[in-house]
Amino acid sequence: MSVRVRIAPSPTGNLHIGTARTAVFNWLFARSQGGTFILRVEDTDLERSKPEYTQNIMEGLRWLGMDWDEEPVYQTQRMGLYQPKIQALLDQGLAYRAYETPDELTAMREKQKAGSEAPRYNNQHRDLTSEQIAAFEAEGRQAVIRFKIDDDRDITWNDMVRGPVHWKGRDLGGDMVIARASSSTEMGQPLYNFVVVVDDADMGITHVIRGEDHVGNTPKQILLYEAMGMPVPQFAHTPLILNEKGAKLSKRDGVTSISDFKAMGFTPEALVNYMTLLGWSAPEAQEIFTLDQAAKLFSFDRVNKAGAKFDWDKLDWLNSQYLHEKSPEDLLPLMEPYLKEAGYEFDLATDRDWLLKLAALAGPSLTRLKDCVELGRFFFAPTMDFADAAVEQLQKDGVADAMQAVLEALQAHGGLNEISDAQDLITQVTKTLGVKKGVIMRSLRAALMADMQGPDLVESWLILHQRGFDQGRLERAIALGR
Ligand code: GLU
Repeated sequence: MSVRVRIAPSPTGNLHIGTARTAVFNWLFARSQGGTFILRVEDTDLERSKPEYTQNIMEGLRWLGMDWDEEPVYQTQRMGLYQPKIQALLDQGLAYRAYETPDELTAMREKQKAGSEAPRYNNQHRDLTSEQIAAFEAEGRQAVIRFKIDDDRDITWNDMVRGPVHWKGRDLGGDMVIARASSSTEMGQPLYNFVVVVDDADMGITHVIRGEDHVGNTPKQILLYEAMGMPVPQFAHTPLILNEKGAKLSKRDGVTSISDFKAMGFTPEALVNYMTLLGWSAPEAQEIFTLDQAAKLFSFDRVNKAGAKFDWDKLDWLNSQYLHEKSPEDLLPLMEPYLKEAGYEFDLATDRDWLLKLAALAGPSLTRLKDCVELGRFFFAPTMDFADAAVEQLQKDGVADAMQAVLEALQAHGGLNEISDAQDLITQVTKTLGVKKGVIMRSLRAALMADMQGPDLVESWLILHQRGFDQGRLERAIALGR
């Protein structure tokens, strides 16, 4: 039997890191088994679902490199499928209409709580007489449809992550609602646990791989599969993603959507690589791999039961590994949106040459792509405000003269094209003035970069020279020192 798995996001928000990680495990399993990975958009919550969220989810999955193999399935386009199945359960006596008002259900729960019982539906409308039904309907009450759950049932499955899992029917909260309230002739909207079973069966899903937060839904779904005579798939419940304090990662932890991670300057390769490691470990502790490489190594044996702590340092480290590997040509288009957003002005076509040098300079120091903005502050404006430490350096005895000598040597020079040109010029000035090279270097940094800290000085000088900024900066520094 060929493996068919799905990721089933609800488009009620942007692609969440938890959903994306579930998608990663589904994708890896599908690819490792030569199976099929399907996207199902669970858009039945009409109030909260939005097309822009569907768009964001699809873009996020594609950006991360997870392609799906068939046309996406939309639940709202399948509503016709569910009602006959509910009707069949009603006809077989496996489901029934229950007429409690919301207030009555609240009262039931309050009473249970007061008696220290776990709140549950007490199945009181399971065997209503036709007179009782007629009376409720005459009152104009609406009915939900409930699926009967036998308290004495034992439900067991062999979870691919958690091993054998056992549930008692009585722990499932009583007969469960499978369709919302509606009149006796119509049927209300079918609910998640029911719809998901019908869809998974109809789509031939062989393995349901989803977050641990769904583990309590699985016994209910197994009962529904059985009631409808459908084959029960295999289940894998993947560990939750936890924050540094060990609680479930949430919006309060800063970012939770894939688009947020993108905006922060993570590359898709690093992020998806990191997500494979959230709850799974590769044999021989290999840590850096592409999705395709991970698929060759993936199996559920190496997925942990315990929650996976989100480790920003590790993600940063992985991201820097990917960024450091990139050529300036590959890096520049990735840096461009951050530089533009920061308000730096440039033209990708005419400035390409020095922008590539900037990318080469940035590459080895980037942790997140956004770090290029900080680096950019040295290169996009003709002049900069001098930091206090730079002023101090430039006002030291003899520094203005030394910078004057550099300026003159620069004007006499044919133009700085290579690193060695700049180095020769520095050596020449050092020798002529008989000062220490360190003094010249520190002073040049103060003059050209307006700061005592920053990127490699000689490489930076070449970029500034190419932009035509170095002479003006030297002149300002000399004026400041005199
Ligand atoms: N729409 C559900 C969710 O996003 C799908 C759960 C499942 O995979 O069954 O949590």
